[in-house]
Order: sequence, then structure tokens, then C-alpha cells
Amino acid sequence: MIIVKPEMIDNQIQTLPEMNSIWQETLNWQPTTQQQDQFHKLYELIIVGNQQLNLTRITTPEEFWEKHLWDSLRGIKLVWEKPLSSPEKKKVIDIGTGAGFPGLPIAITLPLYTITLLDSTRKKISFIETVLADLAIKNCLPIASRAEQIGRIFQHRETYDLAVLRAVAPITVCAEYALPMLKVGGIAILYRGNFTTDEHSNLLKVVKLLGGKIEVIETFKTPLSNSIRHCIHLQKVCQTPINYPRPVGAPIQKPLNHLT
Ligand code: SAM
Repeated sequence: MIIVKPEMIDNQIQTLPEMNSIWQETLNWQPTTQQQDQFHKLYELIIVGNQQLNLTRITTPEEFWEKHLWDSLRGIKLVWEKPLSSPEKKKVIDIGTGAGFPGLPIAITLPLYTITLLDSTRKKISFIETVLADLAIKNCLPIASRAEQIGRIFQHRETYDLAVLRAVAPITVCAEYALPMLKVGGIAILYRGNFTTDEHSNLLKVVKLLGGKIEVIETFKTPLSNSIRHCIHLQKVCQTPINYPRPVGAPIQKPLNHLT
């Protein structure tokens, strides 16, 4: 268990910018006072946690706001704009969540969703457990395991409405991790910086093999540093063949695009 004691929170930690007008312009939404407090507390815990663990290189308040908070929520904009019929029943998984991105900002913003935060590094999941307790976040289930294992377990396979993956692996590997966990009709959102034509053509082949299709490719820029972003939405259209995901390590060592 990673312990973040109150006295470890340095008074010098800067305050996060609120950026209400940018939230409004870009997402047609503004955080409540409670959500702003949770975002700030999350920032403090990450800065303190970084002293023990290598959680993130993004540490200034503006960068944290843009690259962790805004980026996490902008990625789900299309899903968010289409309110799910009964959000309290919707299951989300953040695969390779690291220090909790994009899953924690999504959990804070959409408390009716149930969010599984999956990472293969036990220390990162211990850190997330501390954050969930300190921020009184009740709608998350942290799990220390690998996507290849979880995707083969009955309780997780074909059970999620939404999977999100940011900075986890090459794009076709992300597809192999995510599609087995989705229900038919579910969506995986792959958060990317660049998205090349080669990646696109490889992904088309691989997604078909896994029972999905590319539904939408969003291209946009971040609001402070003007950095390019792509969010690739995959929709699951039929069951994934039982042999996927392949055993631990195989997706990354032998990506499907090299086999198909
Ligand atoms: N998604 C976070 C973000 O954008 O800040 C973390 C990104 S970090 C570069 C990638 C994370 O994915 C690491 O914490 C790593 O442990 C996790 N990861 C990589 N492969 C994984 C797998 N097969 N199953 C579960 N987690 C995995």
C-alpha cells in the first residue's frame, strides 16, 4: 500500500487553474466546486506520489490540467454527448491506467458509471487505491493484472460498454487488449497523439479479425499547447474469437498486423 500522509503534501504545491471558460467552450460543461476540489486533490496526490513512484512527467499545473484532466475528458466527448440510456448500469474499463488516466477524471465527472482501473504494475494500483480513499471516489474498481489475463476471465470478457486506453501500446495491440472485453455494441476509445496511414491500414485488418470496426476517427488540438490528438473509436460488431487476447506478452511481441 502506498501511503500518502497529509503532512507529505507540501504547502508549496501550486493551485490548478480552473479553466472554466475552456471547459465550457470545448466540452459544453464546467466542473462543480466538488469536482474542482477533487481535481486539485488528485494533482496534489500525484505530485507527492511522484516522490516515491515514477507516475508522470507532467507536473506543472497547466500541463497537468491540459494533458491529464482535459485530455482524459475530451477523449470521451462523443460518448458523453450521447447520454447512455441508463448510465448507472454502464461499465467502463481503463486498460493500462497508470496513475489513473483517463479513468480517474472520468470517474470524478461521471459518478454513475462504474469504472475498472486496470494496470499490470501493482505499485500504481496501490497508489490508485490511496487516491480513491482520499477523494472518496466510490465508482471505481482497481485491479492489478494484465489485459491479456483479464480479457480471458469470464467476469470481464464481453462485459464492458466502454474501454479507454491511453499511451499503453502500439495501436493494434491496444485493439487486441480492448475488443475481447467489450460487449457487442460496446466502444473502445484509443487515445493517440499521431495516427499514421500505416497504423490506419493495419488497424482496419486487425479490428476485423477481432470482431470490430473503426467507427469514428476524431482529430483535434489541445487548448493550451495546440498539440495534435487523435481518438479512434472502435465498435464491437460481433464476438471476438476465443483465441484472443493471446497469452501474456504475445500481443506486444508478435503484433497481429505482422501475422495477418
Ligand atoms: N494510461 C496512463 C496515462 O495515459 O497516463 C498510463 C500510461 S503508461 C505509459 C502505460 C501503462 O500501461 C503502464 O502503467 C503499464 O504498467 C500499463 N500496461 C502496459 N501493458 C499492459 C497490459 N498488458 N495490461 C495492463 N497494463 C498494462
